[in-house]
Amino acid sequence: MSVALEMRGISKSFPGIRALSDVDLIARAGEVHAVVGENGAGKSTLMKILAGVYQPDGGTISLDGAETRISGPIDARSRGIGMVYQELNLVPDLTVAENIMLGATPSRFGFVRRRALSEAAAVVLDAFDARIDPAAILGSLTVSQQQIVEIAKAYAQRPSIIVLDEPTSSLSEHEAQALFHIVRRMRADGIAIIYISHRLREVLELADQVTVLRDGRQIETRSADGLTAGEMIRLMVGRDLTDIFPKREVPIGDVVLEVDALTRPGAFADVSVSVRAGEIVGLAGLVGAGRTEVARAVFGLDRAQSGTVRVDGRDVFARTPAQGLAAGIAYVPEDRKRDGIVHSASIKDNVSLPVLSSLSTGGWISRTRERAMVRDQVETLGVSPPVIERAVDTLSGGNQQKVVIAKWLAAKPRVLILDEPTRGVDVGAKADIHEIIGALAAAGTAILLISSELPEVLAVSDRIYVLHEGHVSAELDRTEATEATVMHAATGEAVRS
Ligand code: ADP
Ligand code: MG
Repeated sequence: MSVALEMRGISKSFPGIRALSDVDLIARAGEVHAVVGENGAGKSTLMKILAGVYQPDGGTISLDGAETRISGPIDARSRGIGMVYQELNLVPDLTVAENIMLGATPSRFGFVRRRALSEAAAVVLDAFDARIDPAAILGSLTVSQQQIVEIAKAYAQRPSIIVLDEPTSSLSEHEAQALFHIVRRMRADGIAIIYISHRLREVLELADQVTVLRDGRQIETRSADGLTAGEMIRLMVGRDLTDIFPKREVPIGDVVLEVDALTRPGAFADVSVSVRAGEIVGLAGLVGAGRTEVARAVFGLDRAQSGTVRVDGRDVFARTPAQGLAAGIAYVPEDRKRDGIVHSASIKDNVSLPVLSSLSTGGWISRTRERAMVRDQVETLGVSPPVIERAVDTLSGGNQQKVVIAKWLAAKPRVLILDEPTRGVDVGAKADIHEIIGALAAAGTAILLISSELPEVLAVSDRIYVLHEGHVSAELDRTEATEATVMHAATGEAVRS
C-alpha cells in the first residue's frame, strides 16, 4: 500500500522538556496505524506537528513521497490532513449539517443554499451508516453522536490522512463499536488513519500497525498481528506487568458472595460464581457475553428469573439497588458517564449520595460527619486535586473514576463489584485504581472485577470466571489463566471441564 505520510527523525522540545526525540512515523493509505503510550509520551505533540500546530525542531515530513513543510493548520488541512481531537470542536447552536460543512472551503459551500448543505452532510453521514439527522441542532445530540459528527466534519474535506486522537475516551463500549465501523469504512476508502487510544483491546481490534512511544522516544513499530495487550503495556511503560499491577498477597477468608444458577432469560443462564473475603475474582468475556447483566442482577438493578444470591450465607433478594446495598453489595457501573456519577455535582455530594441515610440521625444529616467521611475517602484514594467542593467534571478521567469508587466505598460493602473500573484511563491511573482494589481486598472485601483489559485481570485476579454467551465457559485459577486460555474460553472454543 502506498505511503501517504512519512515523518522522519522528528524532535520537539518545550521549555524544560524534550517532548519528542528522533521519532519516525509512516502511515500508508488504507491502513490504521495506532500510536500508543502513557500520558505525556508525546503522542499529541507528534500529531500537532503533523497538523501544523507546532513546527518540529528537527526531522522531515513527506506527503505522498514529497518532502514538505506544514506551515500551519490551514495548510495542513489543504494538504489533505484531517484532525479529530478528543475535545469536540463543534458549535452546539448550529445544525449537524452546518457543523459538518463548517470546515469545508467557502468557495465550494459559501453560496449553496441550506438544502444543498443538508444534502451534502447527509451524504457524509450516510457513508458512516450514522442515523443522525443533518437538520438536528448539534447540542441536542449525545456525546457519541457529536463525536461522529466531528469525524464526519473531518471526513467531509476528503482527507488522505486522518488523525483520531483518543476519539473513544468518553464513549461506552457500544458507542465505540459504532465508531470502529466508521474507522473501518474510512480505511476501506483508502484513507491513512492514525489512531491514538488508551484502550488497548480496541487498538488490537482495529490497527494494522502499532507504534509505541515512551518519554518522547519511539520504542517500537510493528504489525498489530500477534501483538498482545500485555506486550503493548510492557513496551509502553518499560516494565513488566507484575511490576505495574503488583498482586498483593492477602489471606483468603470464607465465601462471602455466592451466586448459584442465576438465570435471566435472554441475558445469562445458570451462572454460578463465588467470591471469598479478600479474594479478587475476575469476570472475563467478550462484549455482550453477559458480564454486566450478571452484575446488575446480583446488585438488584435487574431481576433474575431464577437462582440464588447469598452474602455471608444469607439469602439476598435484591430487587432494587437499595436492597443490594443493604445486603452489603456495592456495584460500580461500567458507564461512569451515565450512571456512575452526577457530573455537575461536587466530589462531596457524589461520594456521600449513597450513604446519606447512614449519616443522618432522625432525618438530620450531619454535615460535619459527611465532610469528614468524604475527606477521608478522597485522601485514601488519592483523588487529585483533593478539593471536595470541586465539580466532578473538572477532574481527569482517572480521578473521576476514583470518585465513583469512593462513592461506593463509603458504604463499606462486603462485596464490591467493579465493572470496567479502568476503562479509558491511562496506565498510571490504572495502577492507582488497582492499588485501591488491592487495599480493599486486604481489608477483607470480596471483589468481583469485570474488565475487558485482560492483562489487568490476569495480573490482579486470584481466580477468573469466563463468560461466553451468558454461560460460564471456564473457571481458571490464577496459575492456569493466561491471555490464551481466557480468550479461548471467551470465544467459546473451550467448554467448562
Ligand atoms: P501525550 O499526548 O502522549 O499524552 P503530549 O504530546 O501531550 O503527550 O505531551 C508530551 C510532553 O510534552 C509532556 O511532557 C507535556 O507536558 C509536554 N507538552 C506538550 N505540549 C506542551 C506545550 N504546549 N508546552 C509545554 N509542554 C508541553
Ligand atoms: Mg494526548
